[in-house]
Amino acid sequence: MALVGVLALQGSFNEHIAALRRLGVKGVEIRKPEQLENVGSLIIPGGESTTMAKLAEYHNLFPALREFVNMGKPVWGTCAGLIFLANKAAGQKTGGQELVGGLDCTVHRNFFGSQIQSFETELSVPELASKEGGAEFYRGVFIRAPAILDVGPDVLVLADYSLSSKELDSIAALQAQNQEENAWSGKKVIVAVRQGNLLGTAFHPELTADTRWHSYFLRMINDVGEGASSSIVAVGAE
Ligand code: GLN
Repeated sequence: MALVGVLALQGSFNEHIAALRRLGVKGVEIRKPEQLENVGSLIIPGGESTTMAKLAEYHNLFPALREFVNMGKPVWGTCAGLIFLANKAAGQKTGGQELVGGLDCTVHRNFFGSQIQSFETELSVPELASKEGGAEFYRGVFIRAPAILDVGPDVLVLADYSLSSKELDSIAALQAQNQEENAWSGKKVIVAVRQGNLLGTAFHPELTADTRWHSYFLRMINDVGEGASSSIVAVGAE
């Protein structure tokens, strides 16, 4: 039986495991490099990416995580997990933060501001439309969220977000206050991407009752494959 690993150093790993369980799939907590050998795919949860990076460094996880990504195994990063997967992180307090990398994009940490600028919004995600023509709208939960500012040619944009003029003003003020070089001036940011075996979302599907992103990742695992192991087998929904 194939299992989905969930990096369990910090952040919302329990919520991801619960969402997988609702779909009848077992999520396995990963804290040590050797535990990655037991799983064919991995979710890196939201949380706090600098803390997660320090813990990953302490447990010597970075080389094993990079190898996992480079072997083409499916990996999904949500929020802080997306930052982990990005090739480049921009913005305040990113200096020296170690990243796993692999996803050809630049992610800006805390793009929208601090905790009080957290928000929920309706996103249009064509990939989530059902074959029967079901809804493609998805309610994204953004908590001190990053945003993707640019992507490489192999990256498929799954969802973007148009900034209101109020948000543009507050982001410009924040970037000026933090004396950021190359302040952002675009009107849209990218919030969900796919690049082959890698999936990244700036929001938190694990904090909602809507499991469509988890289902999307399970489909991705079946499409991409997970090396030697077999496809995902349900273990009985709750
Ligand atoms: N702002 C956080 C960071 O930089 C991510 C927030 C989250 O995962 N909800 O790590």
